[in-house]
Amino acid sequence: MANGTGNGGLLGEFAVTGRFDGGNPQRSSDIVKVDEATFDVFPYSEDGDDNYMFRADVRVCSSHREPRPVTLRFEWRAWRAERYMDLRDTFFCRHEEGEWKLVRGRVEGNVTTLTLVIPPGETEVSMNAGYNYERLQTYVRSLRGNPDASARIIGFSEESRNIWCLTLTDGNVPDGGKRKLMAIGRVHPYETASSYCIEAMVNYLLGGDPRAKELMSKFVFHFIPMPNPDGVYNGLCKLTKENGLDFSHGNILASKDKAGKTLLSFARVAKPDYVLDVHSLMDREYDQVGSSDERLLGRFMNLMPDQADVGRRWTILKQRGREALGPKEKRTDYGFTSFCVEELGATKFVLGFSWFGRSFDKMEKTAIKALNALASAIMGVG
Ligand SMILES: [Zn+2]
Repeated sequence: MANGTGNGGLLGEFAVTGRFDGGNPQRSSDIVKVDEATFDVFPYSEDGDDNYMFRADVRVCSSHREPRPVTLRFEWRAWRAERYMDLRDTFFCRHEEGEWKLVRGRVEGNVTTLTLVIPPGETEVSMNAGYNYERLQTYVRSLRGNPDASARIIGFSEESRNIWCLTLTDGNVPDGGKRKLMAIGRVHPYETASSYCIEAMVNYLLGGDPRAKELMSKFVFHFIPMPNPDGVYNGLCKLTKENGLDFSHGNILASKDKAGKTLLSFARVAKPDYVLDVHSLMDREYDQVGSSDERLLGRFMNLMPDQADVGRRWTILKQRGREALGPKEKRTDYGFTSFCVEELGATKFVLGFSWFGRSFDKMEKTAIKALNALASAIMGVG
């Protein structure tokens, strides 16, 4: 301070960290500073499953006084990391709450190299556009006071994070004749597109559009936007924790996981007629759709055919016959939606959308279109 120039006399530097809500990798030993402007980053996977290892969320902080280039080398150490490396070339990047922009890296072997010009301050670099626990909490708070929405905590995760349910319906219409639709998103924590889809659906239903008002008068919607807050917060890809629950492919009855128990208890009381499970996936060509009711699926597909405008076709998720599966507690695979179908008699509907070819606006519109198509299909079939 003696020379009166404050920090101005110091040379700037870069720091890269994943130690924050939604960061990956969170262990500081997984981010190695190679030289002043080069960092090796080893994205973390709790189980090494390359099919879900699409999470990398770091902050690049710069104390330089002007934009400077920095090189990030992401080295994926999954079981068969190289299998999906062609999908690990594009990242989302944003500077201090600005707009997310796409950046393209260079892929060689199991390494993606990104060279970015980083402005002074903090820049987020994410494989899938960030959406963390705090963002969900902020969003929930923003709905307080809305007469058609009630937000409540239905239980807690292992690490005592909130599991929220947003119940949406037209309070002036008696609930008696309404269909009950429960929608869950983001059971797999890397799948941030599903969070943006759920938010878009909720905003649409509360937005006052005549069609949305009609849906609100005919349905009670229970949205569970983040059933796996620990996985989201801790930067995981698929599970609730190391050796934790996979809501889709694990056995939710046999698991002791608190988040799983919370969902089961809530579903038993809410008794949904329909359960919508929104995922996202990494695929350049396909989105995913599936249902336990083939007639409903057929009607949905007529109303929402292949999304050709973004070069995308549906792939249909096969449903298995339940008679061949054996006792529920012993199955390797008895997920939340299977529970809703078998235990509660609900109809399940699964959607999976990919970021490739989609802007945020397109993703929102896709989600709203899917909600409308599903509601129409239900009203037509039901
Ligand atoms: Zn998923």
